[in-house]
Amino acid sequence: MGKTKKYVYLFGNKKADGNGAMKALLGGKGANLAEMTRIGLPVPPGFTITTDVCTYYYQNKKSYPRELDSQVRSGVEFIEKILGKKFGDLQKPLLVSVRSGARDSMPGMMDTILNLGLNDQTVRALTRLSNNERFAWDCYRRFVQMYGDVVMGVQKRPGEDHEPFETVIHDLKHERYGADIEDTGLKEGDLEELVARFKALIKERTGYEFPQDPWKQLWGAVGAVFGSWMNDRAIVYRRKYNIPSEWGTAVNVQTMVFGNMGETSATGVAFTRDPASGEKVFYGEYLINAQGEDVVAGVRTPHPIAHLATEMPAAHTALMKVRELLEQHFKDMQDLEFTVEENRLYILQTRNGKRTGHAAVRIAVDMVGEKLISKKDAVRRIPADSLAHLLAPIFDRRSVSQAKKIGSGLAAGPGAASGHVVFSAEEAVARSSKGQKVVLARIETSPEDLRGMIAAEGILTSRGGVSSHAALVARQMGKVCVCGASGIQIDYQKRTLSANGTTLAQGDYISIDGTAGEVFAGEVTTAPSEIIQVLVDRSLDAKKSLTYREYAKLMNWADEFRTLGIRTNADTPEQVANAVAFGAEGIGLCRTEHMFFEGNRIDAMREMILAGSKKERETALKKLLPYQREDFVGIFKALKGLPATIRFLDPPLHEFLPSDHAQQSELANKLGVPVEQISRRVHELHEFNPMLGHRGCRLGISFPEISEMQARAIFEAAAEVQASGIKVRPEIMIPLVGFPRELKLQIDIVRRVADEVAKKKKTKFDYLVGTMIEIPRAALLADEIARDAQFFSFGTNDLTQTTLGMSRDDSGSFLPAYAELDIVDTNPFASIDQRGVGRLMEMTRDLGRKTRPKIKLGICGEHGGEPSSVKFCHGLGLDYVSCSPFRIPIARLAAAQAAIAG
Ligand code: PEP
Ligand code: MG
Repeated sequence: MGKTKKYVYLFGNKKADGNGAMKALLGGKGANLAEMTRIGLPVPPGFTITTDVCTYYYQNKKSYPRELDSQVRSGVEFIEKILGKKFGDLQKPLLVSVRSGARDSMPGMMDTILNLGLNDQTVRALTRLSNNERFAWDCYRRFVQMYGDVVMGVQKRPGEDHEPFETVIHDLKHERYGADIEDTGLKEGDLEELVARFKALIKERTGYEFPQDPWKQLWGAVGAVFGSWMNDRAIVYRRKYNIPSEWGTAVNVQTMVFGNMGETSATGVAFTRDPASGEKVFYGEYLINAQGEDVVAGVRTPHPIAHLATEMPAAHTALMKVRELLEQHFKDMQDLEFTVEENRLYILQTRNGKRTGHAAVRIAVDMVGEKLISKKDAVRRIPADSLAHLLAPIFDRRSVSQAKKIGSGLAAGPGAASGHVVFSAEEAVARSSKGQKVVLARIETSPEDLRGMIAAEGILTSRGGVSSHAALVARQMGKVCVCGASGIQIDYQKRTLSANGTTLAQGDYISIDGTAGEVFAGEVTTAPSEIIQVLVDRSLDAKKSLTYREYAKLMNWADEFRTLGIRTNADTPEQVANAVAFGAEGIGLCRTEHMFFEGNRIDAMREMILAGSKKERETALKKLLPYQREDFVGIFKALKGLPATIRFLDPPLHEFLPSDHAQQSELANKLGVPVEQISRRVHELHEFNPMLGHRGCRLGISFPEISEMQARAIFEAAAEVQASGIKVRPEIMIPLVGFPRELKLQIDIVRRVADEVAKKKKTKFDYLVGTMIEIPRAALLADEIARDAQFFSFGTNDLTQTTLGMSRDDSGSFLPAYAELDIVDTNPFASIDQRGVGRLMEMTRDLGRKTRPKIKLGICGEHGGEPSSVKFCHGLGLDYVSCSPFRIPIARLAAAQAAIAG
């Protein structure tokens, strides 16, 4: 007999088939349940159905492997034996929870069912066992409600604001008590009636009876969990976080413990450190006499965990021990779920807690200080992109002091957001797609709101705690969030929000401070983050900012590991200074055309473009030369000896010309020429496809005098700055080369001008001339091109556009559909298309090194600051990546992570 495949992994009684390393097979939750069981934590026994079953399920028309049935039965027997209870038993019925658990946690995205095993008979057994009829009926009504929703699909229909089961509860409360009393005020008779009405609702909506057989319930629940892997919100979530759909989810079946057994029972969630600030305080909340979903759903506002010390001292002490143990064992901040059943503590789940960028840095840096992890671990574990949270704006202090505060709640997602208030996810999506900034205000959020939360600048809820769905998701997305602002009344029907005597209608401005937990009517202006205040504005002393100091420590560690150079894309001395403050080691791309848009320069530029002859053009270029030289002087000084890659003029000339008649006649007046002459020239310069038209080095080829002027400006500036004792290292870059001879002709100009200026100024220049690799022909002929080019810089914006034949400006209209259909994993203009464009980059590197073994290689497309692309560039062996100043911290960290990963 061949060995049968193991699909079910047991845990209980300090033993487990699996362990914490088996996340791919058991999911994060299943693996950690096994691990916690092994280290002796009080985990209720249960079993995990592997992710392999999920894969099988989707590959085999939603069916299960043959062996599963008997393995699940053995799993249930295993639990029964430990507890002395039996599934469906009329004396001692076993009740279980059924929950999803993917490899990476996807909070709130998939389904959970509690109290499974209850039916019209076993509910009576539970009454006897617990000696608490109210409790038994409360469990049963919750089970029918969850089962009806999750397994049988009785859910809110489009346009309905309330869940149908909640409406039933609401109606019963009003019928019997004439008010919205708390759920805890419902008596056993009310709950029994609710069960009857819920069952009727299920029958009416689905045509099926609620199943009484526990086995039928179990298989229904297992199917629902696997089914939820492909639900809309799970798909949206996976897309956002790049979780492959092939991973699948596991299913955890676990003995129920009850937090709703009365005043000595409770349920809660806790973080071993503050997930918003990262401070080392035990952070969490709980509800007495409640079940898990009450806390997470944010329907009742729970108590802070510190109260537990007085309300249930024994459970609190046990919980503090667990906190210590978990951090020591998992070496990371943990997010745990616990239940106290009649004063006894149980741990139902632990995972590495989601956290804000601020918290990620603080926790990692503190844990290095506590010798819990190494510097390498700290660098490795912080998602590079999350540094963007640290650089995000905060409210301007003065503006806040003048603003009208209308409420406060929990500071659940730090940062400052101002925008038009909206009350539904649909409205948030609709307005943000039109470019409006919105703040989504909901009484509480549910996973259906995810799209709206993604679209909003900030999220405000009037109910729910720091671990409510809104808070969790906001934190992870780096969204500003204020939760549980209970003084704020939100009316979905009227689409208004009122508090403190102020009423805001949909579309009015609102501002929320997710760091302080405050809500303001109207717009509040924002101020830069503390890191920017220290580094860029220099308005804050580093010593006074903990955020800055921890950030700086982390960045220093990252630099110890990183081998890839980090440069910046910057065009002005100010940008260069900012970038250097952020840690840039030079300029990777200075787009010289940006210098022509300021002040009077545009006039000289337009005169140059409109010139009818070479002579006229040279006269106009002479006017431009001093401007360019002045800019380069400023840039070279700001660089203080760091290298500067300066690119010659690149965009199509018509971009500089006035397009409408009014502007054209204004220009005509300035230049003293008839307006017709200008409109004719604009017309002549019109191109059907300017991106593939007269741009890049093609301009320098047609008008060599432009390249000559630019080269002269660079070298004259270099001579001037060198004379003041500052080293200057220009690297002149020719754009959009496809033919070796294009480059050759431009290099000849550069070298000739360099020699002339050097001679005249009696100096020497330490400079390079190279090219961008932006079109496939350059990649294919890289060996020939490298004979002349001293460096290559991948212009991956254009290289992506030309390789994919997709316009970088127009692809937004169809790429979302491509992502939806899994044609592309991510936007190739944001993250390098490694299989296509990446292959060309590899080929370029190899061919280039054939003729110039030490050729310098870099990247200056937008991808240079995107973590997965940085990693790819490290793998390619590039010398540097170049990105915008504010992404430099991200690139430094991503480069360090790439080096550590090897
Ligand atoms: C590029 O094409 O990647 C590039 C950096 O140049 P630009 O974005 O200016 O076309
Ligand atoms: Mg380009």
